[in-house]
Amino acid sequence: MRAMLLRQPRPTTSEEMSPLELSDVPVPEVNENEVLVRVSACGVCRTDLDVAEGRVEAPRYPVIPGHQVVGRVAAVGRGVTQRREGDRVGIAWIHSACGVCRWCTRGEENLCPYFESTGCDANGGYAEFVTARADFTYPIPPALSDLETAPLLCAGAIGWRSLRLTGLEDGDPLGLTGFGASGHLVLQLARSRFPRSPISVFARSPGERAFALELGATWAGDTADAPPTQLAAIIDTTPAWKPVVESLAHLMPGGRLVVNAIRKSRSDQHELERLDYATHLWMEREVKSVANVTRADVRATLEFAADGGLRPTVETMPLERANDALARLGSSSAIRGATVLAVSS
Ligand SMILES: [Zn+2]
Ligand SMILES: [Zn+2]
Repeated sequence: MRAMLLRQPRPTTSEEMSPLELSDVPVPEVNENEVLVRVSACGVCRTDLDVAEGRVEAPRYPVIPGHQVVGRVAAVGRGVTQRREGDRVGIAWIHSACGVCRWCTRGEENLCPYFESTGCDANGGYAEFVTARADFTYPIPPALSDLETAPLLCAGAIGWRSLRLTGLEDGDPLGLTGFGASGHLVLQLARSRFPRSPISVFARSPGERAFALELGATWAGDTADAPPTQLAAIIDTTPAWKPVVESLAHLMPGGRLVVNAIRKSRSDQHELERLDYATHLWMEREVKSVANVTRADVRATLEFAADGGLRPTVETMPLERANDALARLGSSSAIRGATVLAVSS
């Protein structure tokens, strides 16, 4: 099968060689509780860029990235009862969790110490076929197309989780810093679920600010601009520190900043030295990170989208251009919505 293989992480900006290599590798075999999925679409996420460039390390190389996978079941293991050949399914970042620890048993499988990820701990969907545990796949509602479903599986699901962690109530002003694949879905989610909440978007690129206003943001400004009102909650989806510091200053008393990033860049970590207790933290302002997603988050996101509450804006590229897709994500060029690799039809 064709696969975009990561043999060794390297910068996507490297002149000599891109991190991913189009390769011909054997179709993986299914184990007892797994399904083999013929991939039709795979979303491109900032975490894929972190894996490709080595900021998020895989336990072994080569590895196939990609954790927003849509396709059809091509084979099932002997122990599988809940999926059949031909079923249309999705695979998300959560590849597996132990199922018995403190966190798994209380529905917080995203925090499981044995959490394994798709496209990093296990091979992902930048390939024609991928295997997954059957109980970690999701039936795709008929109302959704393959291409528009892909970004829902991470950008959408993590957006769903982030929004839940804000504790927002309808009418509370919400802020979003960064307006990429996840931000544009969080905005739509927030507008459907909290129709009376005004939404302020902070983004560096004028194109992203214009896109945010098109999608119904009340206000859009640069990272350092002041929003029209203080905010009850802010969701940060940037790789940087500056937006964290800036946004804490815009939180109202008791407000919460939810940081949705696996890794933050070291290049602007000095911004944290500007942190002033009275301006940024006092008055019970909180900071909370978001880690991974649960299966319940993914299912809820798919259902909500199928009911018409969420439609990703998608730009499609062929599988073999995965390096370009990642490089574009790493550059400051504005992408409208999410990038999805079209793998096979
Ligand atoms: Zn566990
Ligand atoms: Zn992701």
